[in-house]
Amino acid sequence: MSTTPSPTVLQGLGVSPGRVVAPAVLMPPPVTEPPSGRRLPPSDDHRAAADRIALASERVRAALDAAADGAEGDAADVLHATAAIAADPTLVADAVQRVMQDHLVPERAVWEAAEEVAAQFEALGGLFAERTRDIHDVRDRLVADLTGRPAPGIPQRDEPFVLVAVDLAPALVATLDTARVLAIATSAGGPTAHTAILARARGIPAVVAARGLDAQVTDGDLLVVDGGAGTVTLHPDDDQVARAKALAAVARTFDGDGRTADGRRVELLANVGAPADAADAAAAGAQGVGLFRTEFEFLDRDEAPSIDEQVAAYRQVFAAFAGRKVVIRTLDAGADKPLPFLTADDEANPALGVRGLRTAATHPEVLEDQLTAIARAAAAETADVWVMAPMVATVAETEDFVARCAQHGLTTAGVMVEVPSAALVADRILAHAAFASIGTNDLTQYAMAADRLLGAVAHLSDAWHPAVLRLVAETCRGGAAQGRPVGVCGEAAAVPALAVVLVGLGVSSLSMTPRAIADVAAVLQTTTYDECVRLATLALAAESAADARETVRAALPVLAELGL
Ligand code: PEP
Ligand code: MG
Repeated sequence: MSTTPSPTVLQGLGVSPGRVVAPAVLMPPPVTEPPSGRRLPPSDDHRAAADRIALASERVRAALDAAADGAEGDAADVLHATAAIAADPTLVADAVQRVMQDHLVPERAVWEAAEEVAAQFEALGGLFAERTRDIHDVRDRLVADLTGRPAPGIPQRDEPFVLVAVDLAPALVATLDTARVLAIATSAGGPTAHTAILARARGIPAVVAARGLDAQVTDGDLLVVDGGAGTVTLHPDDDQVARAKALAAVARTFDGDGRTADGRRVELLANVGAPADAADAAAAGAQGVGLFRTEFEFLDRDEAPSIDEQVAAYRQVFAAFAGRKVVIRTLDAGADKPLPFLTADDEANPALGVRGLRTAATHPEVLEDQLTAIARAAAAETADVWVMAPMVATVAETEDFVARCAQHGLTTAGVMVEVPSAALVADRILAHAAFASIGTNDLTQYAMAADRLLGAVAHLSDAWHPAVLRLVAETCRGGAAQGRPVGVCGEAAAVPALAVVLVGLGVSSLSMTPRAIADVAAVLQTTTYDECVRLATLALAAESAADARETVRAALPVLAELGL
């Protein structure tokens, strides 16, 4: 007699809210290089071994073409092009020859033949060099087929599913089909890794660091993923399934008026990267833009864009928020955002080097041109334009930046607080700056001495850590002393439970990925300001990030009710 397995709850870290019920699909492990020199025994039928390569090539081609037929636009083109590489007769012939002449096992022969093609493409440079990635993709698919393993990459299924993996590369998350992949659950990873940031930006509920997940879950198991609570429930009961389905059916919207339950105003703003994203941010009801990252126009360039190009890009964002506030950040080059014409590539510690506003000392003309462009764009539009500098560490830097802005007629000039020194002397800094916006991503990195891009220290990179929260509190104290507003534009603002704490610490605006605004608004609307202050006090008194998160979540039952 078969028994129904009872529900098992696996605890991880919720990095992107939302509750989803769907079957699990396991991400196949990456294909590894077959050992070099692995040869066929002389007694084996070498011809038959070689023939398996052509069959594998045909199967891989057919699978890729079928996937392409089910895709649209660029994705379909890329898949068809990859299918053509899989069917390439020279690649197959080279691999066959390596079996027949060198007696290599087929998977090793394919690996070496593909490496040779990739090296030739690499040497040709330009567009050819860009194809080496596709060649490696085909190589891995052929090796997987020949060794009887599942094809690498996101599994194809007709029905929507929860993608379960040890960890996921950010590039994969960026390209996930959100109609198919309803949620992500991983057994490794951390809260500020790019994978988590992308999941949030794309509105995919996600739980990371759920230990034991990949070992306990098998393909097809029904799961409830709760991206707010950070839980994955394996074999949920009928009641859990019904509740998850009911919550998933609620489409939350934002009425454009961020406030606490007792009516205290909290501006809910959008973070914008590419200027074209501004329209989506406005459609999500954002009250303004709290962080316009201007790096986008500068990336992949050998020299800075012209003033005219910059004016056009900035006007696009200002126009989408006519009459509303737009906080534009001057170029933040260096460390995780290197720019060849501005930042050195030989620094031992780029995150501690000449980055952000510091590049104004070495390349003042770049900042001057940018301020000229911002002033022109602001004059041509009706948005209320605020300007801020990234990576400010001292009062002197603040004074210098504010003076430069004033020379361009930009009178609302502020700073980002991302360096602990700036947080600790915020009262002095805000005697000169019109406002401060806390970048919790970098502030966490510097407070915890944990590289925000390094998975091995991801457990330390957590804005819930009381050390980070104390720096936020100190910045707010400085703002209150000078009567200046303090906002948050780091990822912390997008986490509903943490947003409540930030408001309790004294923050008056929260800027985030547009997708998070409705969720943050919903939780704030049910929490009074006094409650926010009480929760902030609890979080500040906690011993660890986990302790702060759990204490606040336990005291905010609305999170579970809303599935956040
Ligand atoms: C931050 O550091 O929190 C921030 C908002 O800036 P960025 O992520 O662009 O470094
Ligand atoms: Mg930053």
